[in-house]
Amino acid sequence: MKKLEDYVVSIPDFPEPGIIFRDVTSILQDADGLAMAIDSIREMVKNLDYDVVVGPESRGFIFGVPVAYAEHKSFVPIRKKGKLPRETITAKYDLEYGTAEIEIHKDGIKPGQKVVVVDDLIATGGTTEAIAGLIEQLGGKVVKLCFVMELAGLKGRERLAGYDVESAIIYE
Ligand code: 5GP
Repeated sequence: MKKLEDYVVSIPDFPEPGIIFRDVTSILQDADGLAMAIDSIREMVKNLDYDVVVGPESRGFIFGVPVAYAEHKSFVPIRKKGKLPRETITAKYDLEYGTAEIEIHKDGIKPGQKVVVVDDLIATGGTTEAIAGLIEQLGGKVVKLCFVMELAGLKGRERLAGYDVESAIIYE
């Protein structure tokens, strides 16, 4: 029986020389791979007390929404600046390659709500740190950060010390 990591195709020098890109589309295009990825995140949250799943554009949507649906939780998107139609708050942060600005609807998280963050991959942790900051700015409590993949060498976990971080696949 294949394991989740068997479905990941690694692409050298994408999108820039020196980066090994871990592709999630190769997981998704196989029914067993897709089920395994969603189930692995469901497993991470099954005993948690939380209200909302937050996922960032765009791969965080792919994994976050099915988990929220299956666990009967709500889903709140984080999007690139300028995409959300109602009142937002914004965070600016550094990426593994480049910088980005992301937003969340101001009414997306109510004060006191417990939040699980789902994304495809944690690298430096910069994206997730910015997301956690937005959630906390709205008065939410981050109860867990869940990923399909983790690039451990980039030390995202250290950057997110104090948070509960779990990944289905860890690349050293
Ligand atoms: P970080 O902010 O932790 O450095 O980068 C994480 C973000 O970059 C995630 O949202 C993720 O989608 C994207 N990312 C960075 N490297 C990779 C990679 O190798 N594969 C995939 N699928 N996404 C990546």
